[in-house]
Amino acid sequence: MTFSSKEREQMLTEIESDQLDVLVIGGGITGAGIALDAVTRGLKVAVVEMQDFAAGTSSRSTKLVHGGLRYLKQFEIGVVAEVGKERAVVYENGPHVTTPEWMMLPFYKGGTFGPFTTNIGLRVYDFLAGVKKSERRKMLSAEEAKRREPLLNEENLRGAGYYVEYRTDDARLTIEVMKKAIEKGARAINYVKVTNLIYNELGQITGVEIADQTNGNSRNLYAKKIVNAAGPWVDTIREKDKSKVGKTLLLTKGIHLVFDQKRFPLRQAIYFDTPDGRMVFAIPRDGKAYVGTTDTVYEEGDIVHPTMTKEDAEYVLNAIDYMFPSIKIKEEDIESSWAGLRPLIREEGKGPSEISRKDEIFISDSGLISIAGGKLTGYRKMAEQVVDKVAALLQQETGTTYPSTQTEHLPISGGDVGGSKAFTNFISEKTHQGEALGLSKDAASLLVQRYGSNVNHLFEIYAERKQEAIDNGIDPVAFAMLIYSIEHEMAYKPVDFFVRRTGALFFDIEWVKTNKDPIIEYMAKYFSWTNEQTNQYTNELEQLLTEAVNPETKDEMLV
Ligand code: FAD
Repeated sequence: MTFSSKEREQMLTEIESDQLDVLVIGGGITGAGIALDAVTRGLKVAVVEMQDFAAGTSSRSTKLVHGGLRYLKQFEIGVVAEVGKERAVVYENGPHVTTPEWMMLPFYKGGTFGPFTTNIGLRVYDFLAGVKKSERRKMLSAEEAKRREPLLNEENLRGAGYYVEYRTDDARLTIEVMKKAIEKGARAINYVKVTNLIYNELGQITGVEIADQTNGNSRNLYAKKIVNAAGPWVDTIREKDKSKVGKTLLLTKGIHLVFDQKRFPLRQAIYFDTPDGRMVFAIPRDGKAYVGTTDTVYEEGDIVHPTMTKEDAEYVLNAIDYMFPSIKIKEEDIESSWAGLRPLIREEGKGPSEISRKDEIFISDSGLISIAGGKLTGYRKMAEQVVDKVAALLQQETGTTYPSTQTEHLPISGGDVGGSKAFTNFISEKTHQGEALGLSKDAASLLVQRYGSNVNHLFEIYAERKQEAIDNGIDPVAFAMLIYSIEHEMAYKPVDFFVRRTGALFFDIEWVKTNKDPIIEYMAKYFSWTNEQTNQYTNELEQLLTEAVNPETKDEMLV
């Protein structure tokens, strides 16, 4: 099954002519997970995404596959237990997109946590999340904590808890899950927006009207079941279905700031209390340190394009100043940033940070199945629950039975590396192969770690099309990633490549600036864009580059 941006029309025609069992609205992690679960149970499934895959919340998270230690404080035992256990599954099925990261939880005299509560809390966490022995919590003395992270505020420091979380790339996780679904026979297309819902004479939903955002063409797509996995837009779709009643969504915004390690040489991931009693992460990654997040109610702004305000930036800068006072961080040190919206289920009388992150499924009178809430980490379980419902409804209607979920031990795309334990050997073996092709050790290792078992495709493009890259003024390694992202990951616009296929806009913004011009020129030729399209897509990227370091920019992005 193709997943190339060159074959958009063909993909749409196939979706249109297929007798679909399920059509999913939304190509974030929830939609991708549902597609994979459904297709591996034998259902015919397609996903339509109005922006790029993961362009909604699924590229804007804290990028952790975690149980949510802080939910213990709120006694959300169920969420911690289920999501905590899922960490191990997500890791095992995709070690190339998830990396264990020891996290330090410092405690201070007079703070919310002391040695006793931290120890108990982490012990309960280990138990609930079924943490393996080698990754169970440790307790550190103040000296030991300070040795591991010399930047830590030492005034009244009493010690720290030490436990494992998993770092991920949320957008790549989403893409890899989607690619696996495609490999198994699902279909998915980006830049296709659901503009209307279609009903039969009994008022039952039977399809959707879509508009291709790249050329304005519209079509009708039909399926036995329609699933609304639109994240922050779940209620927008429910409104169209006239079923936005009872529980509704509350969107809250969270931002993250990125700094170069030269300015903020953070060695160790830290999870710390803020002066106002919330908790914030500071995480080292690829020569950078990123810190977040905020949690503020978002009721007015644009959902497609949430931006960071000055206040948001100041909140995080103050938190950094509080925990790492010696570095004297300033706004001008911000190298990049991102802002995202949490699609939470509204709970009257609770503040943003107190609302549960649990997910819920709503089935409307018309038969629209909506899934709301949840976390990136729990995507596979959420998908299982949705597809259980779909399968039960289809069984009632058609008599066909479907097996239970098949994804627990199914590696996602790129995850066929022989399991998490074998990944280190896999990296060194493949890195050698890459070096033998003329790649530098760093470049080969980056490709292996990013693309896992799909790296051979990248090596092939690198080896066979190096001259083409040079002729187009593009670095051959960037070119290999670009071609792979277009022909195997449905990247269509420069922002798809620089934000969601490589994460470079967040973690290597200089690389984006150096490489963007020849890449945009090449993409324009490749896709035969009109001048208007080229200008529009170039401006989108330029706007993101500006906004990443300028808290107050408020212009809307063109989608
Ligand atoms: P989305 O990713 O938003 O996907 C929905 C998609 O639907 C969008 O791409 C949108 O374009 C599309 N869509 C909407 N309307 C239409 C339409 N009409 N037609 C076609 N497509 C449409 N979770 C964790 O596990 N770990 C974390 O560390 C973490 N940190 C977070 C930090 C922040 C600041 C935030 C905001 C969230 C965080 N989360 C975290 C939660 C997690 O990111 C979300 O739960 C998850 O990404 C939601 O995915 P989704 O697919 O439901 O929504």
